Amino acid sequence: MGKVGIITRGVPKLIDPLPGGRHLIDGIEFIVSWARANSLWPLVYGTACCAMEMMSTGGSRHDWARFGVEVARATPRQADLIVLAGTIVEKMSRPLVTLYQQMPGPKYVIAMGSCAISGGPFIYDSYSVVKGGGRLIPVDVYIPGCPPRPEALLYGIMQLQKIIRTEGRRNPWQVKEPYQVPVADSFSAARTAWAVAELQPLRSPSVQAIKPTRLVRPEYPEVSRQAVKNQGLSGQAILSLIQKTFPAVRPVGPDGLLTDALAAPDSPADLLVPTGSYCDLVNFLKNEPALGMDFLQWITAVDWPDRFDVVSRFLSTSKGHAVVVRTAVDRDEMVLPSLTPLFPAASWHEREVYDLFGIRFTGHPDLRRLFLDDDFPGHPLRKDFRDESRVMARPY
Ligand code: SF4
Repeated sequence: MGKVGIITRGVPKLIDPLPGGRHLIDGIEFIVSWARANSLWPLVYGTACCAMEMMSTGGSRHDWARFGVEVARATPRQADLIVLAGTIVEKMSRPLVTLYQQMPGPKYVIAMGSCAISGGPFIYDSYSVVKGGGRLIPVDVYIPGCPPRPEALLYGIMQLQKIIRTEGRRNPWQVKEPYQVPVADSFSAARTAWAVAELQPLRSPSVQAIKPTRLVRPEYPEVSRQAVKNQGLSGQAILSLIQKTFPAVRPVGPDGLLTDALAAPDSPADLLVPTGSYCDLVNFLKNEPALGMDFLQWITAVDWPDRFDVVSRFLSTSKGHAVVVRTAVDRDEMVLPSLTPLFPAASWHEREVYDLFGIRFTGHPDLRRLFLDDDFPGHPLRKDFRDESRVMARPY
């Protein structure tokens, strides 16, 4: 027990037995807990849309300083409240736990919004969203909503202040455990239970069940989409230019299958290039003066039943035309040469493809995971990815 502990726990024991001693200590405790409740210093942990409402709560219209919530900072130093406002992804979970551990006690946690409570709209089919901040650190007050309004956050703060005001030597603040239960699909279970309950006959024959009338699904006329036209060279002109040097390059239709002609000759061409010519073709796109495609816009991948396609889009910033290039990657090999020697910006795109699909890029200078933790099991955008401890299947 440190010096402060000796004073706060030892002195009341000495004074309590004295005449009126209990009242004196109770009075001091009341003032101390009142002061603590009304001088909360929050560490803000705003990760998504709910953070906007939290910022609004701190702004002049709602002004949480009126409730003693002051000095909102992005540091655990001297903070005694952490407001979880937004979606918590797995990669942020360890920093969150570290921040909580760095806060001096007594410390409190408010989980604001569905995401911070349970994963919210991302509870199903998500491999990366933590199903509630309470699984990581102990939450004192939950504020429902998506997002909750500032008034709700202020109400939650007032509820927390009530909790703090009840604390003292008879009800000391204690380190609580986080809510550690396996990820379980309680919503589907509840749905099934309701479906079964609805089939049961009503107990009283005088009670008539209400039959909901279903709304007729409105029919909307189909909206025809105009293909975006290429500036500069048309897709057909780019294809002809490429096929002179790379005759094996073929256009791909909107259904992802090979075709003989471009579906929209004016629009950016979507081309399949043999894996062996991939880097040479990109080099050609960049350095052929008539094409001048000097900007790599993105690289992603598609998981087909028999292969992966690595898809990238290139743009000519001077002429304005663009082209989409696909190349197939064998499911057994999953290796492709890196485009980083040609476009340094490919580095992050290829790391993303590696992280989410497991495709390796030879010659990449730093092929590490990008979004997920290094020890994340598997590559979650592959269709064969399964992890029941993280992913709850959508029940409908
Ligand atoms: S609860 Fe709704 S508003 Fe809040 S972070 Fe999640 S999705 Fe955004």
